[in-house]
Amino acid sequence: MKVLVTGGAGYIGSTTASALEDAGHTPIILDSLIRGRREYAVRYPFYEGDIADRELLGRIFREHPDIGATLHFAALIVVPESVAHPYLYYHENVVKSLELFRALDELGCERIIFSSSASIYGSNTGSDFKVSEDTPHAPDSPYARTKHMIEMALEDMSRALHFRSIALRYFNPIGADPAMRTGPYDEAPTHVLDILADVASGRIPIFRITGVDWPTRDGSGIRDYLHVWDLARAHVLAVERFDAAFDAFGGDFIPINLGSGRGVTVRELVAAFETVWGKPIAKEEAPPRDGDVAGAYASADRAAKLLGWKTELPLTQTIADALRWVHEVRPRMLGY
Ligand code: UDP
Repeated sequence: MKVLVTGGAGYIGSTTASALEDAGHTPIILDSLIRGRREYAVRYPFYEGDIADRELLGRIFREHPDIGATLHFAALIVVPESVAHPYLYYHENVVKSLELFRALDELGCERIIFSSSASIYGSNTGSDFKVSEDTPHAPDSPYARTKHMIEMALEDMSRALHFRSIALRYFNPIGADPAMRTGPYDEAPTHVLDILADVASGRIPIFRITGVDWPTRDGSGIRDYLHVWDLARAHVLAVERFDAAFDAFGGDFIPINLGSGRGVTVRELVAAFETVWGKPIAKEEAPPRDGDVAGAYASADRAAKLLGWKTELPLTQTIADALRWVHEVRPRMLGY
């Protein structure tokens, strides 16, 4: 199937494009390259531009009338930036997604799969930190609120217009394509595993465990980490099983958690990292970051039932892939 991939030059979009190709599909990339990488986009038919550009979308669908589904990844995703620049986030994420959805409806696209986020649950996680799709939303950053708002609009538009939609709520994707085609490319990483890899290579002097007094089993933050390749595979299954999922679930809109179903604390992640790396790394305890939360992990039963998906790659392989990427491929790509 031909699949339109907005944000297909980003970390998760590009990895999903590879997974689509490996499964025999054809990704068609739409990306502004404001945050994405050109070398990721040009592997496939590529349109450089904005998701709200109605004319460009018209051209894409004229040239590829057989597009069967749209995967909508394109978004700004940096939480502190969203706090500093809320208009930018609401405009780029919410307003432009609405324009995209309206255009997709007019162009006859019947299947939309949206990149949502577990951050919409905020700290609303109860004492066991496990969240299901029915857990009420409590988004606590402008970024998380954009995902929450887009989901609400998408649900309403799915009911009223001609398309149906699935919102995939990601927990914490980490690592890189096991075949090393794509991976994270921030020069100054903010996510925990990329920081650990930079500490191992000496680019960052010490790892700070940010938050040691959370009500978790060892006081450090808990998250549900999943290999980005497992996440990419879930998108392929969402495309392939889209109609069957609606046959089973009903309605016009399905939210689905994508996580491993296991919570891992920062201290546990550091221990696993040190085992894979083969030696201890420099670390210290530190206060939580601004806006940090204790965390959450997924009830992933719905993904298993509707998509036949669960995570397969163990944390140790995820760490090993991240290390290979950050130490061998990313320096060549970024030229340092
Ligand atoms: N974290 C940490 N040190 C760092 C960066 C992150 O201890 O240098 C912790 C952070 O407090 C959180 C977990 O690692 O408990 C995951 O952070 P990340 O930013 O990767 O994911 P998010 O908080 O966005 O879910």
